[in-house]
Amino acid sequence: MRVGVLALQGTFIEHIGILRQLGVEAPPIRLSHELDTLDGLIIPGGESTTMLRLMESFELIQPIKEMARDGLPIWGTCAGMVLLAKSVSNYEMETLGLMDTKVRRNAFGSQIDSFETDLEIPLVGEEPFHAVFIRAPIIEEAKPGVKILSCLPDGTIVAIRQNRLLACAFHPEFTDDLRFHSYFLNIVSPKLSHNPEDRILRGSQLES
Ligand code: GLN
Repeated sequence: MRVGVLALQGTFIEHIGILRQLGVEAPPIRLSHELDTLDGLIIPGGESTTMLRLMESFELIQPIKEMARDGLPIWGTCAGMVLLAKSVSNYEMETLGLMDTKVRRNAFGSQIDSFETDLEIPLVGEEPFHAVFIRAPIIEEAKPGVKILSCLPDGTIVAIRQNRLLACAFHPEFTDDLRFHSYFLNIVSPKLSHNPEDRILRGSQLES
């Protein structure tokens, strides 16, 4: 299995480290031809406007959009979640627009308002997941096809899935907990999954 990590800026080294721990080939991706042989792609945390500008310069936007439409599983963490959204409520920016969501950038305030908390994410496992939020976005609106995986106690949506696209507002790549990465790998390779929903999606993905 080959899961590329967009490596223009941000937390790509951490994601690559975790994928390698899980025994997955994890090439850093900077050029469009490097996308060709991937089974999945991670868009890391970082600074979404900077990443977007670099993606434009490296001519990655169109190829990534096309591969997502052809069913490539993609997971965006934090800034990556912003880039996957259809719209951003508080900034003018043209995202990849792949998920039916509206997000708010820096929704908790500035760097000093970053925080860590234990989240319930039942699909990832019974034990709470220690989540690191750094100048994090939130999901303000999710259309009906979007499955909510986790919310903060006040109901704020912080993790979602839409078919083979996954997004979270926090940084699983900054913890030793491999469960969120394993969850994504089950989307990439449903054959390995214990979750029947993943196996069904493989057949239905191209219709959506
Ligand atoms: N605030 C950043 C942004 O919008 C995201 C921060 C992060 O990825 N930790 O782009």
